[in-house]
Amino acid sequence: MMYAAVLHGINDIRYGQVALPDLGNDDVLIRVKAAAVCGSDVPRVKTKGTYHFPTIPCHEFSGDIAKVGKNVASVKPHERVAVFPLIPCGNCTLCKEHKPNLCDNYNYLGSRCDGAFAEYVKCPAANVLKIPDTVSYKQASLIEPMAVALRGTRQAGVTSSTKVVVFGMGTLGLGAVQWAKLFGSPLVVGVDRNSHKLAIAKKIGADYVIDSGEDDSREESYEKKIRDLFGKDGPDVVLECSGANAFQNVAIKLVKKSGTISLLGNPQGETSFSEKTFQEILRKELTIRGVWNSLIHLENNEWDFVIKNIAAGNIDPARIITHTFSLPDAKKVFDDLHERNVEGYCKGIFLVNQE
Ligand SMILES: [Zn+2]
Ligand SMILES: [Zn+2]
Repeated sequence: MMYAAVLHGINDIRYGQVALPDLGNDDVLIRVKAAAVCGSDVPRVKTKGTYHFPTIPCHEFSGDIAKVGKNVASVKPHERVAVFPLIPCGNCTLCKEHKPNLCDNYNYLGSRCDGAFAEYVKCPAANVLKIPDTVSYKQASLIEPMAVALRGTRQAGVTSSTKVVVFGMGTLGLGAVQWAKLFGSPLVVGVDRNSHKLAIAKKIGADYVIDSGEDDSREESYEKKIRDLFGKDGPDVVLECSGANAFQNVAIKLVKKSGTISLLGNPQGETSFSEKTFQEILRKELTIRGVWNSLIHLENNEWDFVIKNIAAGNIDPARIITHTFSLPDAKKVFDDLHERNVEGYCKGIFLVNQE
């Protein structure tokens, strides 16, 4: 048996004992060390639910190998690992085109099958990546969102001459800020309405941060502040990491002619554009890219790049962690996060199996 925070239904997460997962021949059992709360986990637990119940949530985590299936030779017990949470089918057209992130029949740890708010979690050995000793468990639990942020930043073509606005200073946005600076962008501006998150953005390298929560009716609206920083052409790239409809609209309005908008943020509800705004996509010949998950193993995969850069000290995702929790408190943690009742919150992780 093991202890886990199990989601039994919408808004019904309970800490208790469950059976240890059964291992298939190609699976590994991981002893969880750090399990991060994704922004998507809060609605998943409180209002939307998982695909079936009961499910153990959490897809951003790290740990040690506890046990391996009969066929597994790639890792062995006690090795430290991070885990890619998407399990592609391997048979659909997209999988055969080496785009497993777009698989038609994927499984996913923490939403479609059991994830890591638990002492142990199982996954296919193919989803596991070893991490060097210079990468901490906390850092490794954030490789997944850092990889998605990297994918969006790369797809937008950010280089040492690209001026960038990032909307939404959650985990993805703060990741995007770090990547854009690492790629040499001369101007990275972070926008959010949360002053704690803006302070972190500044600390991790944003050149300027702008509070969008201020009263827009005033002369000094956040849009005007962005325009002032980028001049009349506007930013070359906007990385939209918030999912807020207002920011999606402002992105189209502000981005430079022939510019690129990468969409990383899950939409926060119905999304609409005025005819005039939509027209700008045509008149400015904009490129708008969607970003979905990330890749491991394949050429140019994000995960190896993230691990390499954390190990080298070029980026540190752990700098955005503001809170640590323990699993028996899971219900209260999700209640508080849902009520926005956690002072100064940006990113929280559950520490599990701590000696
Ligand atoms: Zn996530
Ligand atoms: Zn597939």
